Amino acid sequence: MGRRILFLGPPGGGKGTQAKLLTKALGIPHISSGEMLREAIASETELGRKASEFMAVGDLVPDDLVVAMVKERLCRDDALCGYILDGFPRNVDQAEALANAMGSDGIETTIVLHVDEDQTVERLLRRADLEGRTDDNEATIRHRLEVFRQETEPLIAYYGDNVRRVDGVGSIEGIFCRVVSELAS
Ligand code: AMP
Repeated sequence: MGRRILFLGPPGGGKGTQAKLLTKALGIPHISSGEMLREAIASETELGRKASEFMAVGDLVPDDLVVAMVKERLCRDDALCGYILDGFPRNVDQAEALANAMGSDGIETTIVLHVDEDQTVERLLRRADLEGRTDDNEATIRHRLEVFRQETEPLIAYYGDNVRRVDGVGSIEGIFCRVVSELAS
């Protein structure tokens, strides 16, 4: 089993961008629960139909749906040599479900990207223009940040010693250098 990394940070904090760069560098899959859910919606699966109403307003999709989806993904062969999780787990119950499912193959390093709130809102509004994501409007963005603070931030304490804090402000390349050096230390 290779590296098992989690990116944790607010929406718009650059997790997806950094996870994609790291996936290329390490040759292990990038597993983004948000992307998987958007794909399920686009292909009109049962999961997509159930998830869309929660995503549209910036609420978390119910744990049982997301946990089953990610567990199934982690069982595929390409994840045998490690994985980069982005957007999952999103709360302590999901983290416990993951720990139960993976045992000693659970998350080894958690990278927390630090970005202040005004900057994340600005980034998300810019992304709304570029990508046209329906959940990137200002009211939903503020709600997603609130959900992050309430539900996801407690995971920083949950993962305790395996957390590495990285300043998420600056150029994409500069942040990536900091991520890589944290993983090397
Ligand atoms: P993201 O692309 O990670 O920002 O996720 C977009 C949306 O997908 C979130 O606002 C949630 O509605 C949903 N979502 C993604 N990952 C999860 C998760 N682990 N648990 C519950 N909902 C999720």
